[in-house]
Amino acid sequence: MSMAQTYLDDLRRRREEILERVDIALGHAGRSREDVKIMAVSKTVDIDAAADAVRAGYTLLGENRPQELVRKFEGLHAIDDLPQVRLDMIGNLQKNKINAVLGHAEVIHSIESLDLARAVSQRVSRRLEAGEFFAPQQVLLEVNVSGEESKSGFAPEALRACIEDLMELSGISVRGLMTMAPRGSKEVAAKTFAGLRELRDELEGVYPSLTLSELSCGMSEDFDVAIEEGSTLIRLGRVAFNPSFALQ
Ligand SMILES: *Cc1c(COP(=O)(O)O)cnc(C)c1O
Repeated sequence: MSMAQTYLDDLRRRREEILERVDIALGHAGRSREDVKIMAVSKTVDIDAAADAVRAGYTLLGENRPQELVRKFEGLHAIDDLPQVRLDMIGNLQKNKINAVLGHAEVIHSIESLDLARAVSQRVSRRLEAGEFFAPQQVLLEVNVSGEESKSGFAPEALRACIEDLMELSGISVRGLMTMAPRGSKEVAAKTFAGLRELRDELEGVYPSLTLSELSCGMSEDFDVAIEEGSTLIRLGRVAFNPSFALQ
């Protein structure tokens, strides 16, 4: 008698397929498994499906809305025997939602302006002073490498202009850069990711005290080229959660 196929089985099988693709891309780039984290972007699924993703082996989830991040954080932590999972904030963050995210998101990937960085810094500093927090908030700087008007993030030139200000902010610890590639072409995506890496190398060259080890880039349609271009963290939504999404 065969057991009914469950969603957890689907997630496990899909994860194996993803890992195969990841390994091929890592092989092309001469990199290894430890060099890249795989995030399952759970923004479109409910807490049960997010929990199944954790059971399937994902240890990092991403959410793009503050309220939903907090809801998933609380929902997942209330489940007995669920393996430990980290949640990151990857979407647009309004200043009036910063306090909600603090303490729930391990890393905020979407710092897109000096103004937002200052606002996060202020709120975290207050909590550090009050003894509520013991470490600065880890953040990534979102860069609009492709220059598409619809995309948020620092223009590379704007980031060059304010990186010293960003480095001086207490309360935040800048760990790396994040970007999103235009849809539709792996070639264009590869160029975008290479641009992110080159900007990282340039900034680290100019500021020896700056370490931008995390490069958060690559999604369902372009994670393989992202890994070949140096991504250290791929963010997978549809390909991880939707069994009928075709691997490309
Ligand atoms: C939704 C989302 C993803 C995942 O997108 P897919 O194309 O479904 O993999 C990755 N990063 C961010 C910032 C997102 O909002």
